[in-house]
Parts: sequence; C-alpha cells; structure tokens
Amino acid sequence: MPAHSADLPRQPGLLIILSAPSGAGKTSLYRALLERLDHVVASVSHTTRPPRPGEQDGVDYHFVDEAGFERLVEEGAFLEHARVFDRSYGTSRAAVEAERAEGNDVVLEIDWQGARQIRERVSDAVSVFILPPSRQTLRQRLEGRGQDDVTVIERRMRDAEAEISHYDEYDYVIVNDVFEEALERLVAVVLGERCRLEHRREVLGVFADRLMGKIDETSG
Ligand code: GDP
Ligand code: ADP
Ligand code: 5GP
Repeated sequence: MPAHSADLPRQPGLLIILSAPSGAGKTSLYRALLERLDHVVASVSHTTRPPRPGEQDGVDYHFVDEAGFERLVEEGAFLEHARVFDRSYGTSRAAVEAERAEGNDVVLEIDWQGARQIRERVSDAVSVFILPPSRQTLRQRLEGRGQDDVTVIERRMRDAEAEISHYDEYDYVIVNDVFEEALERLVAVVLGERCRLEHRREVLGVFADRLMGKIDETSG
C-alpha cells in the first residue's frame, strides 16, 4: 500500500457461516455472493457422499472415502466436522486460515452442528441462517433441482425440521423468497460486517493514528 494512500491496509478476512435446510437456496446464494463481491471465497468441504451429476472433485467438494476422512480427522485437519444425512462432512482448517490471512472472506456452507463447533473455536465468526418461505416451497425446490431421488428428498424434508430448529443460534436470518432480495440482504450482511470495529481494530489503530498525526503519514 502506498504510504499516502487513504486506503486502509487489507484486514484479515471474515469467516462467514451459511446454514439452511437442504433446498433453501444456500448454494445459489453463496455462488451469487461470490460473483457480486471481490475478496469472498468459498471453502471447499470434504465429504464422503458421492458426487452429484456435474459436481467436480476439488471444486464443489473434495470427495473422499470414509477411511480417508477418518485419517484427516485424526490428523486434526478439520476446523469442524459432522455427520449429515449419514455422510461425513468437514471443513479444512489450513485452507480457511490461509484465505483469511490473505484478506479474503471465507464462506462456509455447513450444517448447524458444524456451525456450533466453529462458534466455539472461532470467536469472530459471523453466522447466517437461510430459511425457505414455506414448507411447500422447500419441497418444490428440492424436487425442482432434480438431483435427488424421492427417498432422498423425503429424508431431507424430515431433516429440514431439525436444521430449522437451530435458526435462533445465528447472528443473521434471511428468508429466501425472491432470490434477488435475499441476495441483497446477504451482500448487506457481509459489507456491514466488514465495517465492524471488532473485526478491524488492529488495522484501524494504525489508520487512526495517522489521521490524528501521531504517526507520520509518509511512514510505512
Ligand atoms: P445441499 O444441502 O443440497 O447443499 O447438500 P449437500 O450434500 O451439499 O450438503 C448436505 C449438508 O451438509 C448441508 O446441510 C451442508 O450445509 C452440510 N455440509 C456441507 N459441507 C459441510 C462441512 O464441511 N461441515 C459440516 N458440518 N456440514 C457440511
Ligand atoms: P441448498 O444449497 O440450500 O440445498 P440450492 O441453492 O441448491 O439449495 O437451491 C435449491 C433449488 O432451489 C435450486 O434448484 C435453486 O435454483 C432453487 N432456488 C434457490 N433459491 C430460489 C429462490 N429464491 N426462488 C426460486 N428458486 C430458488
Ligand atoms: P444452483 O443450485 O446450481 O446454485 O442454482 C441453479 C440455478 O438456479 C442457477 O442458475 C441460479 O441462478 C438459479 N436460481 C436460483 N434462484 C433463482 C430465482 O429465484 N430465480 C431464478 N430465475 N433463478 C434462480
């Protein structure tokens, strides 16, 4: 950063947790968020579930078998991990920390169990819960996605109740009815959190000292 620039030095990135019952639209929303804002990246989870048609290893998920997953658990590679729909899912600690250190906001698309673990371990994590506008809409979206068979959809509808019961553990709640409106709210949350004093004390300290003339503006 040039010494005279009024720009703040890059602050460490946010850790943003996004949870929702399956089908509520969290994947669509975070993909749209990535297109809308710079310095937002997705965390690519590890999972033992099989890839859906079109899903790419290393892009949508790191697809691993149960033995490979257990090895990673033992190595302490996960910031959090949980069983969801009888499969294992986990978030890579190293990948998240590297992105945040680079100044990128990392979005974790994880279930409520994982969200709880992250809140315990990462004090400045920001959590957002996405709700569908109705039960019927949730079912229609699961069916409309056309990627899961009837038994899987029934299972996800049942599990939706358990997931939704945890909405009140989150910092923010967004109802995804009209997509563009829900997206605006999510963008607003991220931009708002970027301004929060608590996330940027260190960076602001130096900036304010310069503004107050306590540090020479031409120095580093
Ligand atoms: P989706 O619900 O249609 O996105 O289906 P997925 O099979 O992709 O995800 C199933 C569930 O696993 C969702 O509730 C996700 O939030 C959750 N999930 C995905 N990755 C992780 C992870 O790394 N950790 C945890 N705890 N949950 C995850
Ligand atoms: P999740 O990741 O939470 O399981 P998806 O993002 O895959 O959910 O969304 C489920 C389906 O609903 C997708 O087919 C998506 O295109 C659709 N969808 C998401 N949000 C909306 C919305 N606001 N209005 C209509 N359809 C939506
Ligand atoms: P995915 O689940 O793969 O992220 O999204 C599937 C497609 O549905 C994407 O093209 C996404 O933009 C689209 N989509 C999600 N929500 C809406 C919506 O409310 N209206 C419209 N028109 N498209 C949507």
